[in-house]
Amino acid sequence: MILAPERKIISPRFEFNSDNPYQPSVSETQKNYIEKIKLNITNKSYNLQHSACPCGAESSEDILVSEIDRYGIPLKSVLCNRCGTVRFDPYLDEASLADFYTNIYRKMYAMDVDDSADYGDYIASQSSYSEKLLQFAGDSLTPKSRLCEVGCGGGGSVKFMQERGYDAIGCDYDVAALQAGRHYGVKHLYYGDLNSLPEEQRKAKFDLIYLHHVFEHLDQPLNFLQEARQYLTPNGKIVLIVPDISRIDQFGHLPALGNLLMYLHIAHKYNFSIDGLHRIASQVDFAVNKLELGSSSKSSSPWSSSPEIWIQISPNSTQENTTVHQESSSRPSRMLNYLLRTEKLFKLGLCRGQIIYKMSALASPKKLTTKLRRIMP
Ligand SMILES: [Zn+2]
Repeated sequence: MILAPERKIISPRFEFNSDNPYQPSVSETQKNYIEKIKLNITNKSYNLQHSACPCGAESSEDILVSEIDRYGIPLKSVLCNRCGTVRFDPYLDEASLADFYTNIYRKMYAMDVDDSADYGDYIASQSSYSEKLLQFAGDSLTPKSRLCEVGCGGGGSVKFMQERGYDAIGCDYDVAALQAGRHYGVKHLYYGDLNSLPEEQRKAKFDLIYLHHVFEHLDQPLNFLQEARQYLTPNGKIVLIVPDISRIDQFGHLPALGNLLMYLHIAHKYNFSIDGLHRIASQVDFAVNKLELGSSSKSSSPWSSSPEIWIQISPNSTQENTTVHQESSSRPSRMLNYLLRTEKLFKLGLCRGQIIYKMSALASPKKLTTKLRRIMP
């Protein structure tokens, strides 16, 4: 029997209110898809099933923090009081996820390839994280190194790596994105995941497997790491880049700055904590290194990026780099306290990032003029 988690909703706006449902600011097209999901959940076309935190904690250590996602979809988010990871529980089962990603996801998130004349720009934009990736992992790579991006979308990053001489390939389940990538000249893009790559690709193994904003989508992240291990060379590494809800007060895109609700959305089953990632990796005997960005890569344009965790993991039985930050289950987690505090500050407009943004607006004559025009039309 699964006990209901302790209830500590972040604030009233995170509650599900059937009389006055939350209305997201989205297009009419997006609204139609959101309503479709709500209906699928209500009439049980979509099945929700329980899954425990992949850190290994019992569900009795969970705390219910939200009853809706950012689209107003009635999905419960729980915070694992052992590791601080936030996840949807219960969540869509495998068949429901397959339908969601095939028929709804891209259109609901306004990322449909058919609707975008600027898909080439999207592919080009993937080079920004590829550059950062090479800053971190470049030293351990040689011109002959084999790279694989899992969930590569249109393959802009794969192209970037190929142009720098690496033997890079990518895989994704998004047929339209893969086709668009090929249209823009990206080579070696494959449908599916690591297990469905052509045999010669799997046998050759990889020096670097990386996932950019993909790991948080996976239903079974622990299984992925176990499987990925067999495709790594002896010194091979995996780099994971995921959203970081432990710094949402600091910087980010404006609607999400300090706003936890924006980080809770149906496609992201997990919002991992660093502690949670350490605990998951240690279960499959991986060593973990947190990759810290230099100050210059963040401060030059803080509003162009969102808080992220960059982490490198590699098979290593010595575990010398792995540090598990013990959270005591007998006290509220640091993450919960941070999220509750951030919500209070967000509503007052007093998150650090919100204050910096306001100050920068005042310091910029152009932004100040725009602001004054709004006040004095
Ligand atoms: Zn956990």
